[in-house]
Amino acid sequence: MALWRALLCCLLAAWPGRPGLGVPLAPTVGAPAEWPRQFWHVTDLHLDPTYHITDDHTKVCASSKGKNASNPGPFGDILCDSPYQLILSALDFIKNSGQEASFMIWTGDSPPHVPVAELSTDMVIKVITNMTTTVQNLFPHLQVFPALGNHDYWPQDQLPIATSKVYSAVADLWKPWLDEEAIRTLRKGGFYSQNVTSNPNLRIISLNTNLYYGPNVMTLNMTDPANQFEWLENTLNTSQQNNEKVYIIAHIPVGYLPFASGVPAMRQYYNDKLVDIFGRYSSIIAGQFYGHTHRDSLMVLSDRKGNPLSSVFVAPAVTPVKDVSQKETNNPGIRLLKYKPGDYTLLDMLQYYLNLTDANLKGVSNWTLEYILTQAYGIEDLQPKNVYALAKQFAALDSKQFPKYYNYFFVSFDSSVTCDQKCKALQICAIMNLDSISYDDCLKQYYVKHNH
Ligand SMILES: [Zn+2]
Ligand SMILES: [Zn+2]
Repeated sequence: MALWRALLCCLLAAWPGRPGLGVPLAPTVGAPAEWPRQFWHVTDLHLDPTYHITDDHTKVCASSKGKNASNPGPFGDILCDSPYQLILSALDFIKNSGQEASFMIWTGDSPPHVPVAELSTDMVIKVITNMTTTVQNLFPHLQVFPALGNHDYWPQDQLPIATSKVYSAVADLWKPWLDEEAIRTLRKGGFYSQNVTSNPNLRIISLNTNLYYGPNVMTLNMTDPANQFEWLENTLNTSQQNNEKVYIIAHIPVGYLPFASGVPAMRQYYNDKLVDIFGRYSSIIAGQFYGHTHRDSLMVLSDRKGNPLSSVFVAPAVTPVKDVSQKETNNPGIRLLKYKPGDYTLLDMLQYYLNLTDANLKGVSNWTLEYILTQAYGIEDLQPKNVYALAKQFAALDSKQFPKYYNYFFVSFDSSVTCDQKCKALQICAIMNLDSISYDDCLKQYYVKHNH
């Protein structure tokens, strides 16, 4: 009895929003160490503070850029970025889900999609502050690992290679979750590495891949912006020596955009360099997690001989926003990842979503489970060999799995959506080929095959 009370007191005492580290999170009382553990992944919140319901649909949100909102309701509209209420509903769902999580990753993009002139450095910092304090107030005991997105800066995409007002602001805001060295590199270059307090031999490496993003003119012609590649290799090397496992998180993913032909998400040179590093350290990288595309997609990194090395997960956005010219968008989504403590093998992924139309109609945010990855596709776990085998199944001509994958790609926004032969080729090549040489080979094979 006394022991239980003592443990409970420690649990309550640990982490109540303490600045800095030093206070380890008590292990989950009563749960054997080998039980699966889990963490949340949220991304692309894109808060639009101007969102409000009004009869003039051109004035519902600044992010519709003067276009008529489509069917605005309390939880948002597909032509608008997120109202605060949508973001709060997602975080409330996490809080009340009954799922005990060891930590959360949050892969960036808090400000809205609006013209550059409608934002400023101060407004960007205000939005990131709002989102950070919202998360910290709802989850005072949870360690959160953020990454910066291309919209977490003003002007957007132009994240610099040296310290800036934004880097400095987030270094201060994110102090409760990170140690001194992490805060130092975050303030200097917008990236960091940090041990998970409740899983001491697991390290999160949060990269600033916005430095590699095509539209970023601050890094044009640089071989190693902010020396992040050098830092990354050193960090991975140290982790290897210390027998740590690593989860890579960042906003802009490695690999190719699955809905475009021959377009890597970041500049090709940087993409190939990053993919090469991840390949060389794949024995300690237990997972990679990204955002930015707003879509739900998988990738698997293989070596030259086609041996699968690393599983990559791109999470869909919370914002449902789309451009008027686009036909499809995503429903708001958040996800839970299950892993094995000790070696940090990824066991499963549970994707949750909000049917936006339904939520607005009923005035209730009924976040629900969309699918469980292993069950949806009948695979054992999320290790590279199993994701690779799944991708092979997708590629088959009459694959029953692929249409399912394509519906989940848009977070069940439109179950009648179809992907023709070319669309599917682009998807498959992007899932299975992350570097430019193997991706180009894949596309070439497709065109040769189908032009005969
Ligand atoms: Zn985004
Ligand atoms: Zn982005």
